Order: sequence, then structure tokens, then C-alpha cells
Amino acid sequence: MPTDAKETRPAGDAGSACELHSMHLRFVRLLPLVLITFVAGHPTRCEGRVPPLRVGLLVHRERVAFSGGAGLKVYAGRGRRLPPLSAPAGETWQARREGREIVVSDSRGAEVARARRRLRILPAAGGTVTILDVPGHWDKRTTRAYRGMIEIRTDRSGGLTVVNIVDIETYLRGVVPSEMPANYPLEALKAQAVAARGQALIKAGRHRRQGFDLCATQHCQVYGGATSEDPRTDRAVAETRGEVLTYHGRLADTLYSSTCGGHTANNEDYWPDQRPVPYLRGVPDFEPEDGVDLSFPLAGDQLKRYLKYAPRVNCYQSRYAASDKIRWWETVKRAEMKRRLAEALGDFGDLLDLRVAGRADCGMVEKLAVIGSRKLVTVEGGRRIRSLLGLQSATFAIESYRERPSDLPVVFVIYGAGWGHQVGMCQVGAAGLADKGWDYRRILEKYYQGCVVVKRY
Ligand SMILES: [Zn+2]
Ligand SMILES: [Zn+2]
Repeated sequence: MPTDAKETRPAGDAGSACELHSMHLRFVRLLPLVLITFVAGHPTRCEGRVPPLRVGLLVHRERVAFSGGAGLKVYAGRGRRLPPLSAPAGETWQARREGREIVVSDSRGAEVARARRRLRILPAAGGTVTILDVPGHWDKRTTRAYRGMIEIRTDRSGGLTVVNIVDIETYLRGVVPSEMPANYPLEALKAQAVAARGQALIKAGRHRRQGFDLCATQHCQVYGGATSEDPRTDRAVAETRGEVLTYHGRLADTLYSSTCGGHTANNEDYWPDQRPVPYLRGVPDFEPEDGVDLSFPLAGDQLKRYLKYAPRVNCYQSRYAASDKIRWWETVKRAEMKRRLAEALGDFGDLLDLRVAGRADCGMVEKLAVIGSRKLVTVEGGRRIRSLLGLQSATFAIESYRERPSDLPVVFVIYGAGWGHQVGMCQVGAAGLADKGWDYRRILEKYYQGCVVVKRY
């Protein structure tokens, strides 16, 4: 990946005191001490209300280790008059569950506090709390710093849940660089910031039963906290502050995925149980001036050619494109394919063949026929088909190779286009368009047709 020159930090920090104030207002009844500590010395006038979020970082943990810089305060929260504990800068403390209580011990293992059900940790203004051993990329454990407040609470599993309470603009500073490389063009990063803001607002609350709004993984959006922040993505968040996409005045569900390969998909092509969403229609990811001679739906040889060789579409022209995400192929032996399928579909006998039985206009496979010696199984919807076969996307073709025409297939060759669910904004395509000089509004309005950018606060 090319690295761009570092840009200076934007005026985004100007809003943080206001945001923190707004965030703390929500906990006015729960945390009078925190509020007093925090509001003192901070401006109290805000331009608008910045929504606070509860982001789940860890669940079902036996113990949680944390540390912070100077001024870190731990609120054990039993009784209003209990003053907070000050943790020495850089020292690692540990919280563990003991019955209904949370026991905090210092680095020597000596008990320093006991909390009933909930413990809150607050850094000094502008500081962070570091949590050790949180999930990182590819399931590796890592250490991450977080702005805002950390809440450790007992959960129903008998373990501990760790929640980061943070305003949405600060949350986005940890999301945008986790969801899109920070060296992408600024206008693409701004489009990503607006899309991610919409996703946070739409998805907030889906983990309510676990005690938080959003998780920090791909299930909601990947959130890496302050450790992931970058001056370029900070700027993209600050320059789009409060902006969301709406469709006829209602917040739009701004789904996005890595690489469409040439055409995005309708939401119901991938999720057949969903009703068609008017602004989540598949669009060609190329412009008239690109000279791409394709008119969807494609069929026959034209479809095969499209799935094998990428035309000069936005996500392919982009210098940020990864060639193995644009077009890909794999060969799977029949026995291995049978094993993969039987795990999910049960016993269908011997695997005689595998065929595409239905295709959406964008090229996505909507129906897959698994022809077994005992029965025929039809699998529907891009999502199910993709996960069943373990593919990069659901836009593909299958060829079966036999030694003699009367034989069973020896091997299946699968080749396809794109990476991800392909619904909504194509992130690599957005980078390609930004390089062509498009601004973030125009990019968003291309991928989410009929939507407009609106400033909510
Ligand atoms: Zn989630
Ligand atoms: Zn694309």
C-alpha cells in the first residue's frame, strides 16, 4: 500500500470537550461525582447533541487487566460518597469476578477495591484507558487504548463484560481506519465516515440484551479505539461531523463492502428474506467515460468473460485495488466439496453435480442446485450460498471437470468477482472515484441512489 504524506491534525478536537460533556449528561443520575469532576473546567454550550454509544469490547471474561496515564480514576460505585481510586500511571490493575462482586487488585495482587455489579474507569481529560488482551485482527489478542469511559460489569454468564462508553464522533475515529485503509483518498474516507455514522445509528441497540449498543467486530463495525486513530481519518470524521445519509427524510441503512467487482447487488439478492430497499439497488460500478461495453444482466459467454477478466470498473481502475479481490478462482475436489456441503445440508447421497440455478441481474448467484444421488437440494440467497461454499463473494460461476462425459466430476472450478456482500457502497470503487475527482457527496449519492447527505447535529 502506498503511504501518503501525513497531514496535520484538523480542528476535530475542538468538539471533544463538548462531546464528553454531552456523554456524561446521560449518566448524571449514576455518576454525580464524575459529572462534577468533568463539567468543571469544560465549556457547557454544545452545537447539538452528539449521541453517546455503548460499545461492547469483551464478554464472558474471567478477568480484565487495564492501565492508564496520570489521572486515571476508578469508580467502584458503592454509595455516592465513595471517592474514586486513583490508579498510578502505567501500573496494570486487574478486575476479576467474585460472586456478584468485581474485585480490583493492583500489580502486586493486593485488593484495592470491590464493586457490586459495575465498575467504571475514567481517564484524565483527553486521555485513554488501556485494556490488555482484547481481540485484534484475525482473532489475535492485542492491547488497545480507548477514549471515553470504560465500564466493567458482571454478566449473566458468570463473567465480566467490558463496555466503552463514548460519543459517536470519537467512536468513528476508531472505526473509519479499521474499516478503510487510512491512506485512501480523503473524499473516500469522508464517504466512509458518513456511511459508518449511519451504520452506528441504525445498528445501535442490537446488543441491548448484553448491556451495550454495538459490538466492536465486523458484526456491527470494526472499532479499534484510540489505538487505530490516524490524522487522515480523524480529518474525514471531523469534516463530516454529524452528517448522515437519508432517504425521504429517514436515516438510510448505509451498508458497504470491500469490492463489488463491477456491479453492486440489490439487498434482497444477498439477503432473500429482506424486502427490497429502494436505495440499496445494484448499480454498475463504472462511468460512461470508462468505455466499458457491458449491459447488465449478462449471460452466456459475456458473463463468463466478465467473471474471469475484470473490465475497467471503478474498483479495478483504483490504485488501491487488490487483484485477488477483483477476480478470484479456486478448485475444489468433489470429496472435499461434498464434505463442505454435507456439513450444512445433511445427507444428500453422493455429490453428482453442482449448478447455478438462478442469477440476479448484477450477476450474483441467487439459487444453487446441489444434485445428490438421494435428493436435490436448492440453496437460495447470496449470503447462504457464499457461506456454504466459503467464497469471497456470491458472484461466481462453477465448472465441473470430468474425465469422461459419463463420469462424476473430479473437480469443481469456481471463479468469481469481488469480495464481500457487494450491497451498497463499494469501498475500493469509492477510492477510485475520489481519485477521479469526485467528492464524498457525489460518491455516496451514486451508491445509495435517491439518498442525500444531511447534517444531524
Ligand atoms: Zn455486533
Ligand atoms: Zn466496485
